[in-house]
Amino acid sequence: MAWIFQGNPARYDIDGYLSRYPQRIYWYTNRYIHDISIGDVAFIWRAGSDAGAVAIGHVVELPTPVQSVKFPEALGSDLWKTDEEAADGLKTGIELTDIRLTVDEGMVSRTQTKADSVLRSSTIIRIPNGTVFRLENEEFTALTNLWGLPVGTVPHASAIEGQRQLRSHYVRERSSRLRHDKLQAFRQKHGGLHCEVCGFSKSAQFPAPFTDRAFEVHHKKPLADAEKPVQTLLNDLAVLCANCHRTVHSNSEVEKNYSLLVGIYEKKS
Ligand SMILES: [Zn+2]
Ligand SMILES: [Zn+2]
Repeated sequence: MAWIFQGNPARYDIDGYLSRYPQRIYWYTNRYIHDISIGDVAFIWRAGSDAGAVAIGHVVELPTPVQSVKFPEALGSDLWKTDEEAADGLKTGIELTDIRLTVDEGMVSRTQTKADSVLRSSTIIRIPNGTVFRLENEEFTALTNLWGLPVGTVPHASAIEGQRQLRSHYVRERSSRLRHDKLQAFRQKHGGLHCEVCGFSKSAQFPAPFTDRAFEVHHKKPLADAEKPVQTLLNDLAVLCANCHRTVHSNSEVEKNYSLLVGIYEKKS
């Protein structure tokens, strides 16, 4: 079975939630409580003006009262913008495998979905009120296709640990929301951008749209335990020039590489 879990950004900061907890999230579930099974595929759908599917994953915790979920720290309860009954109630635990918050990152927009001959008659398009939607088989195939996955190959928990960790690493670094917040905080603190490894700052004079390309945001801590959702804080991130960032990721020893390179420049100064 496959599901769409919908959220309204006017009531809940969905982008903030997915950026902070790219591994495990919980979604309010008031329907299909006994139909949802472990391993079911789940799409996260953002409602509103920028609507569409923004993440994919699978169910790892059946609908559970909010007080007894496995990882209460990953509930993201502080991200409600209004006082909602949905903050309480049953929550389904979803392990995410891919997050795409913008069209640039490859989200599947409502417009795209509506243009699809199968999906145009799906509930999420016709009667988009609600939180949980069941996807019929053909709808699931169609949405998976739009997402860009070959039919029947939804990424799954069986992916080996290292790959999962690396993927979570990239997801967090790609999160446009975290990147934006980090660069802004860094600018405020240091009066501009520079590389935290080599100190390079020349590209910081580039006009605005280029600066964010010349400097990248790197996640310093690989996930110690991929089973446990870890919140990403701005302090976990470092601003690096594109050159150093590439070097840090030249092999899988990302954490070691980072401290090695930082150490080399520290000795010089
Ligand atoms: Zn650098
Ligand atoms: Zn990185």
